[in-house]
Amino acid sequence: MTQKIRTRFAPSPTGRMHVGNLRTALYAWLIARHAGGEFILRIEDTDQERYVEGAVDIIYRTMKATGLTHDEGPDKDGGCGPYVQSERQASGIYLEYAKKLVEKGEAYYCFCDAERLAGLRQTIGDKEVSMYDKHCLSLTKEEVEANLAAGKPYVIRQNIPNEGETTFHDEIYGDITVPNAELDDMILIKSDGYPTYNFANVVDDHLMGITHVVRGNEYLSSSPKYTRLYMAFGWDEPVYVHCPLITDENHQKLSKRSGHASYEDLIEQGFLNEAVVNFVALLGWSPEDNREIMSLEELVAAFDYTHMSKSPAVFDVQKLKWMNGEYIKAMDEDAYLEKAMPVIDSVIKRDCDKKMIAELMKTRIEIFPDIIPAIDFFEELPAYDVAMYTHKKMKTNTENSLEVLKDILPRLEACDDYSMDGLKELVSAYVAEKELKNGRVLWPLRTAVSGKQMTPGGAYEIMAILGKEESLRRINKGIELLEAACG
Ligand code: GLU
Repeated sequence: MTQKIRTRFAPSPTGRMHVGNLRTALYAWLIARHAGGEFILRIEDTDQERYVEGAVDIIYRTMKATGLTHDEGPDKDGGCGPYVQSERQASGIYLEYAKKLVEKGEAYYCFCDAERLAGLRQTIGDKEVSMYDKHCLSLTKEEVEANLAAGKPYVIRQNIPNEGETTFHDEIYGDITVPNAELDDMILIKSDGYPTYNFANVVDDHLMGITHVVRGNEYLSSSPKYTRLYMAFGWDEPVYVHCPLITDENHQKLSKRSGHASYEDLIEQGFLNEAVVNFVALLGWSPEDNREIMSLEELVAAFDYTHMSKSPAVFDVQKLKWMNGEYIKAMDEDAYLEKAMPVIDSVIKRDCDKKMIAELMKTRIEIFPDIIPAIDFFEELPAYDVAMYTHKKMKTNTENSLEVLKDILPRLEACDDYSMDGLKELVSAYVAEKELKNGRVLWPLRTAVSGKQMTPGGAYEIMAILGKEESLRRINKGIELLEAACG
């Protein structure tokens, strides 16, 4: 029987969920769901300095919003709990396992103070490096016990030999081999009694039966040390899936400053959850048929981590916008109106056909805030230049625009059907009678009712939305402006 796949998402509660973390969660979730396996949520809160109040709620909220359901976690016991590292620490798990390594000679107590450690720091190039010199490895058992009995602060360090090399395998990056001499005797248990991430992730992944570890490639360089921990314990290593770096369009590491750092930021900027998830899924992976628009279900069916890329993935905001626009177009009416109406209401206070505005905008936006600058003229006719009446292709100028508007005005005043069809009928009859091209009438009308060069929809839509009274007011205003200009 093949082993059931178990993946985990192990965020640290340090704030909003960064796009990189969301991708890690998504890929881990997809690997589990694709294989009918299990997905575990573990909260890694052992770094007390980085802990942010409320960040655990953000994790739950984001997982719920994105649909990344977990099978086990702090709120869903699956027999491997606790699922919060501070609770695991309190139960003494990490110290217990660190002591096992001490007994095996694979770890040792270190009592060096800050001053001594500072002396070990070296600057190589522009980097500060610090390799512990195994000073405390030479302490006798009695010396260690005496120090512990005296309450001397200590850490527990991994004991990595200076000779030989360590190889580990990553599914994306292949085999990676490093000389052991380059691996620092890293701290496993800190002086505050908490484990480091480096130690806790190994102990927890093993005890929770994790088969596939998915995480960012910033952990790649530490992975040989984890391999040595697995070897020291005599445990099987999980499959490693390190995800490629995500950069901005300038190939710089994504940062908060580039404005698209976290899931919640993107949602606040007006992106839809489905589009964000779809977009994030493609940061480092693509399906064989190169499809781009994919639902979560389609991603589950198609996701294959062996086809992930190792080259950096570019966070292309333009692509995300395009994708979001596609999702908006595909929204059902109710869901769309629920999102669009508040935006429209924030701009337009007057009484007009706002639902029609919403429909008009649906295919014209990429994110909901795009609606705002496109529709402000419905609320108030902007001041505009009469030069706008002149359009070469439509063969219009200020004189003939004035003439047409004055000529058609009585018909518009007499008309009671300001629906699109009603207006179309009226204008068609007029152009037929006067033997004019449509543009000769529609361009001046649209200019008069919108005061804008570019508008969503043409004269019919705009007039139907504004209604008779406001349309006539604007056309009269146009006539007034043109008369003043034509002298
Ligand atoms: N707590 C780590 C982080 O948030 C998790 C890394 C991992 O997935 O192992 O970066």
